Amino acid sequence: MQNHSNPRCCLVLDLTPEEIDRHCRQVIHDNHRWISQWSAKTWTVPHVHGALLEQLSDEDRTKLKHQSCFKEKVKLVQSITLKDHQYCFSHGDYCKTTRGDDLEFSGLPCEENSQANHNRRFMEGRFGDPYCTWAKRHEILETPLIILENTPDAL
Ligand SMILES: [Zn+2]
Repeated sequence: MQNHSNPRCCLVLDLTPEEIDRHCRQVIHDNHRWISQWSAKTWTVPHVHGALLEQLSDEDRTKLKHQSCFKEKVKLVQSITLKDHQYCFSHGDYCKTTRGDDLEFSGLPCEENSQANHNRRFMEGRFGDPYCTWAKRHEILETPLIILENTPDAL
């Protein structure tokens, strides 16, 4: 495991079939390259990790999946220790996930919140696991400012 300096972190959760790279990793690197060109400064390559749930052990992920409701999932996640390293696609290594940043800008899966989904279940839906894991991560990191993007109801 290496300690890469001046870390930035991206956890890619959602996939869209229109992206060239279905994991959006190329977009992150394209933006990094663009900001470096725009600012005439070479910025440190951001860490790009995979799914947030990979910060849980296989056993804990299975337990979480089988909890009956979101309240029980939160209770379980509160008792779990998240992994402090996760594979990083930028550096081809296991980079630290315990780096704190001043600002977190996230977009969690929104299908369970969308008005277009007539069977939406909000936190009780299929994305409750990453929601509570994401919250636990920022509770541990004590992230001072979080911007969570989501689409509001149209009506
Ligand atoms: Zn990395």
